[in-house]
Amino acid sequence: MSRRKLIAANWKMNHTVATATAFIVPLRAALPRLSRVDLAIFPSFFCVRPLADALAGTPVAVGAQDLFWEESGAFTGEVSGAMLRDAGATMVIIGHSERRHLLGESNEIVARKLAAALRDALTPILCVGELLAERDAGEENSVVERQLASAFHGMGEAMAARVVIAYEPVWAIGTGRTASPQDAQTMQAAIRAWLGKHCGSSADAMRILYGGSVKPDNAAALAAQPDVDGFLIGGASLDPASFVAIGEAAAR
Ligand code: PEP
Repeated sequence: MSRRKLIAANWKMNHTVATATAFIVPLRAALPRLSRVDLAIFPSFFCVRPLADALAGTPVAVGAQDLFWEESGAFTGEVSGAMLRDAGATMVIIGHSERRHLLGESNEIVARKLAAALRDALTPILCVGELLAERDAGEENSVVERQLASAFHGMGEAMAARVVIAYEPVWAIGTGRTASPQDAQTMQAAIRAWLGKHCGSSADAMRILYGGSVKPDNAAALAAQPDVDGFLIGGASLDPASFVAIGEAAAR
């Protein structure tokens, strides 16, 4: 099964409207060289509308880094999926490790957010991954399986097929320490096997991204792995030249 690679930029709490708008000038110029991969940018909530407008007519998707599961109401500070769609987002990151571990999002909260994203017609990137202590204890498979089981609990096959997974070992995020291509492949093949058992025949077509200190110089070896269907990139996605270089490496 050949899956188109998805190269996604998670800007976290970086870039203003001005710097985000400047970023897309060189990105637009590079698009002819990136036609073999799908691209998505996840800026702050404030930049979703300006970027969606600026990228209209290009194949670059714009998404948000989080949402709240309710449709509307008295939830001070929260943003709904419908609001994101209204702002031009078509995708959303769910359960990023910084939200799980710095902001206390449990597997149950992640599951509610995933269901809300699907309800609101957004394509979710569901992040899963183990802590360093869990890997050192040999628990990486059980941790990731628990995250998947909770997120997909009770979900039908058609809904599950719309989910993109990002395997992001927490010890590799923002640390400069990347999983080896073999480590990434081993975990991502295990994730696909789990999806095959629990989400049926769509598992083969579902994209599983790798995330964790991806850079232009390690992207090609990671992208060559059969179950690495693209990247979720933090630090190296902030600069257009390195984001484009990673896209080019994955497109080869
Ligand atoms: C991320 O935040 O999803 C990520 C993978 O960050 P970095 O590329 O900086 O490790």
